[in-house]
Amino acid sequence: MLSVINILYLLASVLFILGLVGLAHPKTAVRANRMGALGMLVAIVGTLLDRNVIAAGMNGYMLIAAAMAVGGLIGAALALRIKMTAMPQMVALLNGFGGAASVLVAGAALHDAVNPNLQLLIATAASGVIGAVTFWGSLVAFDKLQEWLLPGKPIHYPLQQPLNVLLGLIALALAVWVVRDPSAMAAYWGLVLVASILGVTLTIPIGGADMPVAIALLNSYSGLAGAATGFVLNNNALIITGSLVGASGIILSQIMCKAMNRSLANVLLGNMGAGSSGGASADETYAGKVKSTSPEEIAMLLETARRVVIVPGYGLAVSQAQHAVRELASLLESKGTTVEYGIHPVAGRMPGHMNVLLAEADVPYDKLKEMDEINPQFGQVDVVLVIGANDVVNPLAITDPSSPIAGMPILEVHHARSVIVMKRSLSPGFAGIPNPLFAADNTLMYFGDGKAAVQALVAAVKEG
Ligand code: NDP
Repeated sequence: MLSVINILYLLASVLFILGLVGLAHPKTAVRANRMGALGMLVAIVGTLLDRNVIAAGMNGYMLIAAAMAVGGLIGAALALRIKMTAMPQMVALLNGFGGAASVLVAGAALHDAVNPNLQLLIATAASGVIGAVTFWGSLVAFDKLQEWLLPGKPIHYPLQQPLNVLLGLIALALAVWVVRDPSAMAAYWGLVLVASILGVTLTIPIGGADMPVAIALLNSYSGLAGAATGFVLNNNALIITGSLVGASGIILSQIMCKAMNRSLANVLLGNMGAGSSGGASADETYAGKVKSTSPEEIAMLLETARRVVIVPGYGLAVSQAQHAVRELASLLESKGTTVEYGIHPVAGRMPGHMNVLLAEADVPYDKLKEMDEINPQFGQVDVVLVIGANDVVNPLAITDPSSPIAGMPILEVHHARSVIVMKRSLSPGFAGIPNPLFAADNTLMYFGDGKAAVQALVAAVKEG
C-alpha cells in the first residue's frame, strides 16, 4: 500500500509542477489550474489510503468527509463571492489556515508520538513556530487590508525590533525544550503562543500598500510550515508541495519588491516613506494647473492618433471597465490606429491583476507590453489613455528622491505627446501622494467612473 500511496504522491507532485509551469502563460493557465486541482485530488486519494486513516475505520472516513464538505462549501462560497480586487485578502486567509493546520497537525503528532526521533521533534518545533507566525501574520494582513480593526498604515512603537528579537529568542528556547523533552506538551503550546505574538508583531509595522508583498512572503511561510509538517508525518507529498509553495512565495515577493524598487527588509520593517519630506501638497501640485476634458474632445484627439497606448490601473479593475476598454480598442483599430497596453507589474492590487482583467475581455496577449518594453517608446506615442492608474505613472518616483515611491520604476507616460487620465477625482492612489502628471502641460483629466467614462468615450468615437 505504501508504494501505491507514494506513486500517487509522485503523480500529484508532477501535476503540481506541470501546473506551475503552465500558470506562467495566460494561454495555458486555465488548463494548468485544472492540473493543479487534479493533483490535489490524487494527493487526497493517496492520503485516504494511508494505513492510519484506514485503521480509524468508518468513523474516521465520516469525519474526514464531513470536514471536507464543510471546508469545500466555505471555500467555494468564498471563491465565488470574492471580488478580484480583494484577492490579496483571500490569499492571506488561505495562507493563514495552512499555517494553522500545520500547527494543529504537528501538535497532534507530538501528542501521539511514542519515542519520537530527532527528525520528528525538530520538524514539529519548526511547524509550530512557522505555522503560528503564518496564521497570526496572515490574520493581521487580512485585517489591515480590510481595515476592520487595524489601520492600514504601519504601526510603530518604541523598542519594536529588540522586542521582536526577544520573542524570537524565547521561541528558540521553547523549541529546544520541545526537542529535549517531547512529553512536555506545555512547551509546544508555549512555543505556539510566543510564535503567535511574533506573527502579530512582525506584521503590524507593514503598511497596507505593502501588504501584498507580505502576503506573498506569508504564502512562502505557509509552504515551509507544510513542508516541516511533511517531515513530522513522513509524508512526501506534503514535503514536495510545501517546498514548492515555499520557493514560489519567496520568488513572488522578490519580484514585487523589485517592481517597487524596495528591499524585502524595507518592506518588512514598514519603512515605506521613511525619511520622506512629505513633498508638495495636493493644493501646491494641482492649483490652477489641471485641465479637464470631455469625451468629444478626446475622440477628436484619437481621430488623428496613429499610436495609442492604454495604461490600466486599480480603478479599471474596480469599475470593471475591461470590456468597454476592449470595445474602444477594437473601434480605434478598425480605423487603422495601433493600440497597445502598457502593463506595470504592480498595477492594481496583485501581481498579474491587469493581465487577468484584460484576458477576461479577450484582449490579445501580444498587445500587452511590459514596462521595460514600452517605456523607451512613449516618446513616439500620440495618446496615452491612463485608466484608473495613479501611482504606477507618478513621475515623482523619478524626480523626488524624498517621495515614498522614490525609485519605484514607473510607466513613463509623461513622455507621450498627449496623456488622458481617466479617474473620478484628483484623489491619490495607494501610496497616498499627489501626482504631478495630472497637472502636466500635455495631460488632460477626464473625470468619471472608469467604465462609464470609457463607454461615453466609445459613443463619442462612434459619433465622430
Ligand atoms: P493606485 O492605487 O495608485 O490608483 C488607483 C486610482 O484609481 C485612484 O487614484 C482612484 O482615483 C482611481 N479609481 C478608483 N476607483 C475608480 C473608478 N471606479 N473609476 C475610475 N478610477 C477609479 O493604482 P495603480 O494601479 O496605479 O497602482 C497600484 C498601487 O498598489 C501601487 O502603489 C502599488 O505599489 C500598490 N501595490 C500593488 C501591488 C500589486 O501586486 N499589484 C502589490 C503591492 C502594492 P479616484 O478615487 O480619483 O477615482
